Amino acid sequence: MRKKKVILFVLFSLLIFVGGCAQKKTSQKIITTTVNTYIEPIKSVVGNKYKVESIIESVNVDPHSFSPSSNDAKQIADSQLIVSSGLGYDDWVNKIVTANNQNKNLIDFASDVLHKKDGDNEHVWFGVKNVQKLSKSVYQHMSKVDPKNKSYYQANFKEYNLKLTSLIQREDALKKYTNGKKAYVTEPLPYYMLKDLGVKIANPHFAKSIEDDTDPSIEDVKNMENGLKNHKVSFLVVNKQVTSGIITKMTGLAKKYHVPIVYFTETLPNDVGYYDWMDGNITQIERIVKK
Ligand SMILES: [Zn+2]
Repeated sequence: MRKKKVILFVLFSLLIFVGGCAQKKTSQKIITTTVNTYIEPIKSVVGNKYKVESIIESVNVDPHSFSPSSNDAKQIADSQLIVSSGLGYDDWVNKIVTANNQNKNLIDFASDVLHKKDGDNEHVWFGVKNVQKLSKSVYQHMSKVDPKNKSYYQANFKEYNLKLTSLIQREDALKKYTNGKKAYVTEPLPYYMLKDLGVKIANPHFAKSIEDDTDPSIEDVKNMENGLKNHKVSFLVVNKQVTSGIITKMTGLAKKYHVPIVYFTETLPNDVGYYDWMDGNITQIERIVKK
C-alpha cells in the first residue's frame, strides 16, 4: 500500500486545485464518507436531515489503490461533514480536506474516535464495537452543529446502537465455539472481528505481504501449504476483492484438503448495509464452527 502513495500524491496536487476552486452550488446538505462501509452507521444517526454518500461505492474498487477524481474533491469541499477511515487507508482525503479548510468538519474514525496509532490494523470497521463508537461520535458531532435536532439524533443513535449490540451478542455466543482456534487469512482484513472471536491469525506475515503487493516468502507459502494439508487451522478467510495467483493457489489447496473457506469483502456490495454485511460475515463463521 505504501509504495502507491507517491504516484497518488502527484494526482492530488491537481485535484486539490480543482477542489479548492469549486464553488459551493449545492443547497442540499451532504455528509461524505470515503468508503461505503460507513454510510449506514452515519445515515442511521442523521436520518432525513442529511444526504449521506461515499466516494468509493463499489466492491470492484480496491480502496488501497484508489485515487479520487476532481468531482470527488468537489463533493468533499461541499460537505457539511466528512468521515474518513484513517490510518493511511484513505489518506487522499486529508489533502483535499486541508486544501478546502474542512478540517473542523472531518471525523477521522481511527485516530479521532478509536485513538489508534500508525501501524495498528486499518480495517477498523471489522470491529462492531468500533462502529458503535463511530455512530456515537457522529451523534455527538451533529448535536453540536445542529443542536435543535439533538434529541432526534440521540434517538436514532440509540436505536442503531441496539441493533449493533445484537451483532456483538451473536459474536459473544459464537466465541464459545471459536475461542482459541486458528485461521489463515489472505489479507489482514478481519483482524478486529477475529480478535473479538478469540481466533488467532496463523499467517500474519503472509497476509501483510499480499496487502503490501509484495510476493510472500517461500517459507510463508510453504508453511501455509503444510498448514492447510495438515488442518492446522479451522478455516481460511479470503478477501473477495483481491485476486492473485497465490491466492487462487491457496484457495485451491483449502478446497482440496477440505479446509472451510470464508469469503469476505473489504468494502460493501452496494446493495448491502453495514449491519447485513457484518451479519453475513458472522453467519459464515457460525456455519463452519457449529457444524
Ligand atoms: Zn485492506
